[in-house]
Amino acid sequence: MLVAVIFYGYGFIMKSVKSSSQKDMEPCTICRGQFDRRQLVVREIGDSKLLYFCRQCILQLYDDISKR
Ligand SMILES: [Zn+2]
Repeated sequence: MLVAVIFYGYGFIMKSVKSSSQKDMEPCTICRGQFDRRQLVVREIGDSKLLYFCRQCILQLYDDISKR
């Protein structure tokens, strides 16, 4: 649940800049790095917002659990 809230919060922060020069590249929602879309986990928020998460950020989020 907490993770979901964090993800939702990031959605608001990150909704501005979208400058994807290459077609299949998308920025990771968390670290803003550009990655191939096929390597990103995609989550749809609401009707149209798509959030992308790279492997490293997902592992890092998961790692936060073990630190609690
Ligand atoms: Zn990332």
